[in-house]
Amino acid sequence: MKQTGDLNLVKKINKTIVLNHIRTDSPISRARIAEVTGLTKATVSSLVNELLESSLVEEIGAGESSGGRKPMMLLFKGTAGYAIGVDLGVHDILAVLTDLNGAIVRELRVQHDNASVDAVIAQLKAVIRELVESAPQSVYSVIGIGLGVPGICDEEGRLLFAPNLGWENVPLQAELEAEFGLPVTIDNEANAGAVGEKQFGAGKDTAHLVYVSIGMGIGAGMIIRGELYRGATGFSGEIGHISIQHDGPQCRCGSLGCWELYASEQALLDQARAELGGDSASAMDLDGLLARAADGEAAVIRLFERLGYYLGVGVVNIINAYNPSYIILGGRLAKGEKWLMKPLLEAVERRSLPHPRAGLRVEFSGLGDRSTVLGAASFAVAKFFASTTVTVEA
Ligand SMILES: [Zn+2]
Repeated sequence: MKQTGDLNLVKKINKTIVLNHIRTDSPISRARIAEVTGLTKATVSSLVNELLESSLVEEIGAGESSGGRKPMMLLFKGTAGYAIGVDLGVHDILAVLTDLNGAIVRELRVQHDNASVDAVIAQLKAVIRELVESAPQSVYSVIGIGLGVPGICDEEGRLLFAPNLGWENVPLQAELEAEFGLPVTIDNEANAGAVGEKQFGAGKDTAHLVYVSIGMGIGAGMIIRGELYRGATGFSGEIGHISIQHDGPQCRCGSLGCWELYASEQALLDQARAELGGDSASAMDLDGLLARAADGEAAVIRLFERLGYYLGVGVVNIINAYNPSYIILGGRLAKGEKWLMKPLLEAVERRSLPHPRAGLRVEFSGLGDRSTVLGAASFAVAKFFASTTVTVEA
């Protein structure tokens, strides 16, 4: 009996390997899959037949021949199912419906005022419900929900602490799974953003990448040797709470002089209120300040430029500590790139150690503010393949 079990497992693993090659390298022929995996052509053929039956793979006609009959090319069928990715922000919710390739089919944005945990969860459910109901007909329908949150979570998907939301111990995953009957994956928004950049953004070809999410707080997701680094107990990346002034102002985390007190969206708003004065509240939110900077208002531009310098000071710490090859800056403040970038790069140039800096790229995200939702959706897709490809009939 044991031997049978082992053979089944080997077959399941091989099927996963074949599917992964089709997902990443399609269009691809059976012969090419056999070549790159080392599996026999007969094994590949039999596994591909099962994948064709599962509707995750389709044939798309003959490809180029290297001599002899032209091979039938195989394509991963991204529209066999759909995933939902959500970025729960401090003031808003961004949610997308994607196909299994991560292509966005629909996007929803809503504001929330964080009146209570229950009120925000009700809004979250309404947004997810709308996306679930609008998913196109498909074989697997909606396969799961991924959520990026501005805080730290445990393995059961409990949001343990989200200082900028003021939330503690919220069993978000259990609540959403009970509501929708779908698998739910929850992770820190910067971790999700790093994975979004690695899979869909400019980080595709980079093995050592740090994604810095600059919103009301600052967080980082680190890709080390191509994999998301979570730390010993899953809480890495709280980089906004690196102290850049040992006796600086009190932070909500309990420490003093944390980086995000100087360089986050919240910091920008605080500095604007203290220094600009006399303006209406609407002109004091991020979009209002961006509009004023775009209009050429010198005092507002100076605020953004100083924030860029503070961002650079923290980025220097990341460079010196981790020696990444690529730092991608994302989150809401990425909209201020025009004024933030120059002082940021000047601080990096002046302050970071030359060897860790050599060859480094520092850029704002090309995905806009969608790194987190795309990464969150990809967590749902990964969970679907981890559970289905190895459990479909073997
Ligand atoms: Zn702090």
